[in-house]
Amino acid sequence: MSTVEYPPRTVEALLADGTTAVIRPLSAADHAAVLDLHGERMSEGSRRWRFFGASRRAPELAADRLCGTAHPTGLLALGAWVDGELVGEADCEPAQDRPEAAELALAVADAWQHRGVGTLLVEHLVHAAREHGITTFEADTLAGNRAVHRLFTDLGLPVHRRFEQGEVRVLVPLEDEAEHYREAVDERGRSADVASLAALLRPRSVAVIGASRRMGSVGRTVLVKIRRNGFAGDLWAVNPYASEIAGEPAHPSLATLPGTPDLAVLAVPAGAVPGAAEECGVAGVRALVVLTAGLDADQARQLMYSCRRHSMRLVGPNSLGIAQLDPAVRLDAEFGGAAARTGTAGVAVQSGGVGIALLGQLARLGIGVSSFVSLGDKYDVSGNDLLQWWEGDGRTDLALLHLESFGNPRAFSRTARRVARSLPVLTVDAGRSAAGRRGAASHTAAAATPTVTREALFRQAGITATRSVAELVEAAALLHAQPLPGSRGAVAVVSNAGGIGILAADACAEAGLSLPELSAATTATLLDLLPDGAAVGNPIDTTAAADPDELGRCVRELVKGGAVDAVLVAIVPTALSAATGLDPLRVLLDGPVEGRGRVPVVLVLPDQDVTVRYLNRAGGGLLPAYADPVAAARALAHARDRARWLAEPSSPPVAVADTSDSAVARHLAQAFLAEHPEGGWLDPKETADLLDCYDLPLTTSIWARGEHDVLLAARTLGQLGHDGESVLKAYWPDQLHKSAADAVRTGLGGSDEVRAAYREFEARFGESMAGVVVQPMAAPGLELLAGVVQDQVFGPLVMLGLGGTATDLLDDRSARLAPLTERDLTTMVTELRSAPLLTGRPGTPPVDLAALRRVLTGLSRLACDLPQLAEADLNPLIARPGGLLCVDARVRLEPRPAFDPYLRQLRRPAAAQRAQG
Ligand code: ADP
Ligand code: MG
Repeated sequence: MSTVEYPPRTVEALLADGTTAVIRPLSAADHAAVLDLHGERMSEGSRRWRFFGASRRAPELAADRLCGTAHPTGLLALGAWVDGELVGEADCEPAQDRPEAAELALAVADAWQHRGVGTLLVEHLVHAAREHGITTFEADTLAGNRAVHRLFTDLGLPVHRRFEQGEVRVLVPLEDEAEHYREAVDERGRSADVASLAALLRPRSVAVIGASRRMGSVGRTVLVKIRRNGFAGDLWAVNPYASEIAGEPAHPSLATLPGTPDLAVLAVPAGAVPGAAEECGVAGVRALVVLTAGLDADQARQLMYSCRRHSMRLVGPNSLGIAQLDPAVRLDAEFGGAAARTGTAGVAVQSGGVGIALLGQLARLGIGVSSFVSLGDKYDVSGNDLLQWWEGDGRTDLALLHLESFGNPRAFSRTARRVARSLPVLTVDAGRSAAGRRGAASHTAAAATPTVTREALFRQAGITATRSVAELVEAAALLHAQPLPGSRGAVAVVSNAGGIGILAADACAEAGLSLPELSAATTATLLDLLPDGAAVGNPIDTTAAADPDELGRCVRELVKGGAVDAVLVAIVPTALSAATGLDPLRVLLDGPVEGRGRVPVVLVLPDQDVTVRYLNRAGGGLLPAYADPVAAARALAHARDRARWLAEPSSPPVAVADTSDSAVARHLAQAFLAEHPEGGWLDPKETADLLDCYDLPLTTSIWARGEHDVLLAARTLGQLGHDGESVLKAYWPDQLHKSAADAVRTGLGGSDEVRAAYREFEARFGESMAGVVVQPMAAPGLELLAGVVQDQVFGPLVMLGLGGTATDLLDDRSARLAPLTERDLTTMVTELRSAPLLTGRPGTPPVDLAALRRVLTGLSRLACDLPQLAEADLNPLIARPGGLLCVDARVRLEPRPAFDPYLRQLRRPAAAQRAQG
């Protein structure tokens, strides 16, 4: 089997029914296919809608226009292929007098209509058109062409229509930041994704390929598990060398099966994977789980090729398998130890070992699983896909992820933010440490975002990030069984042994929870209720003398009172309970459950031998009991964070008025990368041009060479400077820290000082100095840093912090996922430890906060507009009450396909790059 190289700009994406389509620009080589599409494969009727008449020569004219001799300038034409067959085409042609407006045309083969081909093509055309500076699509359509009008209406972009004698002139402005459009695209992406995953997660038939007779072989183990755990559909074993495996009849090949399996589980040696995958594709299998590990690059490429060409979703390779515990399916196709229990947690792990540990702990706790997927090397199906599946499967109420990397970071944080609104999403933040990242780097190198920042970013995306599998399970135990606490996180601690109560109070404080003083009324009630000697501050010590009833009433009083957001009850067995046979725990569990549904209660039982377990309440419901108060407090803090996140009114991304500059910026980036295919730092002039597109307040600079020009520039700019002074900076390509090389001279008062500074630069740097940047001296102010970095997990982040020399010293920064929201603009400032320096204190007025918001907005837009932006750094940004000025900016670009992260397309895993065909 040979793999064909696609032309550049080829992507794959899912049609509405989950079929994989290849989208790429049409070229001369496609002439015959385009002719066929407009001819044979469209009915008379479709052609009439398309060409407003049924001229015989229409197909030929179309093919010439799109791929041949009559190709108009500026025409953008995309085709969609399924299994090597052209199923549709969309193109737009800029008007000659108005290049920003383009005439849109669309054709879909009859057999492929109503499957989302046209919409997908138009989405990709919108993206391409924006890149080419096109701001409006226009189209003439027949009034009766319902399909096309529906397409425009559903697209999500504003549509203007003008009716003229049976024809409709349609205008579609391609607004850049149209959130409504993104939501519409997201929604189509979600439903296509779910459709494509059905064969994987709700298969009606499964084939295990490579199951051998050998006991303990992976294939055989999975086969036996599928059968033993009650799969509801057809199960077939495929093995050319055996007629029977573990009591199952074995078939020599896919072709000899009585039907076509929806899903195939591959447990063949690496060398046989590509052949088996292609055979599955040809037979019509719709999903693969590849358990085999150790594929080489070529095998990886071929596997991806078959999957994409034949519309198969792929889990793995190097997967432990999958399990779908919906009683209607009951597919347990994994080779972990125990059988997973049916329940409501969706679990996705990258590493099989972690998967086994996690399933084991969940089973012990009693939380069952809705579906489990071991993603392995994650060539295709990723955590993102599963989040979307769980969001709508009607069974999952808790999403648990253990991932070392997140495929497409921007898409992940966007999906997570949506899904976390309806169910808790928990993850282990794996690869935090430098050493951990080295481990993770074998999958995907992760960037070095500091842990604190990562936690804040996970929180921003609504994800509960824990530091270990144990912590994940402990947090899940609470989120699964108890209501969310109020977002303040005020906790009452009750114990029957003072020492444990104090430990619990400390643990709460350390987890960022508060122990408020109780009201006089509550205190009085508790004093009444409890024996002499009880302490009714917070923590509350009932003393070991309190009888179980009293303790139970005390807890109910706190739950009922509404003074706190959660109650933590720590109980140790005492001689008293042993003597009376009255167990305080029993009383608590059997007692009436007041205020249920509002205030969560957690138990700490220091003498229990598991870290966390559930206790059943008589009135229904589960109480999580932790051995260690630290674990209980941490779980409460996670739940409080989630409550806070949910309580935040959803803040829209910052509004952006005008889009023309985005096109200029994209153009500048493309021009730079055309000259520097490897990427690199922009020079001062290019930097200024780019940042200008976003109104970032860069100080005036003149780029001068030679003493005469430098003196002249300094004289001119000095007049604008503070105290009439100017600044010189030696410049050479790829320089990093100018001050570290002693290449900055500030406060130069007159020509003599400028000349001396220049000569000294010349003497020191000689030939290597490409020139000098001359600036006016900025008025003194607070030096800030603002910028954009790319994070491998989260995508582009906007950062703000103290700048200048304080940058590294104080490490006081805030970071947010781009695009920023209105609220981010405020909280990025207020969450800094040095916030009072910005927002003002008695005697010191605030800096120009409105200007600062504009800078952050500009950076957010820059980050979203240019995927090629590796980093942008404004340092320092000098902030004063009257204004904001950046005196040093650096920008680095990387050669990356200018792909829109919100554009619907399937991932291209690094391991299977160029897996095209
Ligand atoms: P680098 O960051 O490469 O070392 P900068 O251009 O940021 O070089 O200059 C270093 C420091 O010099 C700045 O943090 C700032 O304090 C000061 N500085 C630089 N340019 C100016 C200017 N135009 N006006 C006032 N101070 C400046
Ligand atoms: Mg600097």
